Amino acid sequence: KYYNLVNDMKGKIRVYCRIRPMSWAETAQGGAIVVERLDQYSVSVVTLRGLREFQFDQVFSGESSQEDVFQDINRLIQSSIDGYNVCIFAYGQTGSGKTFSMVGDRDQRNPGIMPRAFNAIFDIIQENGTKFECKVSAYMLELYNDRLQDLFVGGADAQSRRVEIKRNRKGLVFAQGAETKEASSAGELFAMFQQACASRHITATKMNVESSRSHLIIGIMLESRNLTNGSVSFGKLSLVDLAGSERAAKTGARDDQLKEATSINKSLSALGDVISALSLELSHIPYRNSKLTQIMQDSLGGNAKTLMIVNVSPCDCNLEETLTSLIYATRVK
Ligand code: ADP
Ligand code: MG
Repeated sequence: KYYNLVNDMKGKIRVYCRIRPMSWAETAQGGAIVVERLDQYSVSVVTLRGLREFQFDQVFSGESSQEDVFQDINRLIQSSIDGYNVCIFAYGQTGSGKTFSMVGDRDQRNPGIMPRAFNAIFDIIQENGTKFECKVSAYMLELYNDRLQDLFVGGADAQSRRVEIKRNRKGLVFAQGAETKEASSAGELFAMFQQACASRHITATKMNVESSRSHLIIGIMLESRNLTNGSVSFGKLSLVDLAGSERAAKTGARDDQLKEATSINKSLSALGDVISALSLELSHIPYRNSKLTQIMQDSLGGNAKTLMIVNVSPCDCNLEETLTSLIYATRVK
């Protein structure tokens, strides 16, 4: 297969595909299942022109649980504590399951990758309490209409604050003007996260009543000090819930929504360009083309370990967007 899962995946991009179950609405309108998991590594899609197959590092079906998806991710969390930059992001059209995968369901009965990662970080720190100390701090941002917003600052204050992307001498990206808060437990980090989620921009579109038209970007900095020899390592875990990848026309966009869609499409295609340049090992990686790729720069390529989860609907009513997403995801190969 493409990347051996046991391999050190430094500088590589792994791609998971997750097919969500049919929704109540899809079933109710007589939708047919056209996207299916063939085996651990492949997805089959029934198109008008016949069957198509796509390969991934892992494929999850509607029956896969949040635990199943997180299983291998635990090792990535360990890597970020060991001093690597790790980036996990979800890509797909609105309603495909990105937020379910990254955040979980609304009442957190099925927590997703973000809350699980918070727990995993502090579990690992606790288990290794005699070997190292680790300082955990985080920023939580929203990228909306090409503007970065600090989600720790709510209300009118948020608009007047300018957040800019800078890099420090170690090459780590930081958000100048945004608050970085220290957390001493998983509960504290989760409380910060809930506060951040409450400040996100949410607009109703035809596709999904509560669709998110902004990228949610969480950066967790991990500074570990080895208690035996005093050496210090810096790692960073970036967790990103991207805005919906669907094209504007389908959502029946008005003017302001069109502006949103244009800015989303621009940033997502810039991300696709970076990923494809990395996988082709080009000498120039076009990070500077969007704020999204600038802020993800230290977590894409170089020594970073990246995991992209492409979320898709199984229904024929979403076939076109599903194919677009699967093709986008295979650019990584
Ligand atoms: P997106 O963030 O991509 O717009 P959501 O994560 O909000 O999509 O998912 C849309 C709906 O489908 C939500 O009601 C969500 O709870 C549900 N859903 C998504 N993925 C799954 C899954 N794997 N299992 C069960 N329900 C899911
Ligand atoms: Mg969402």
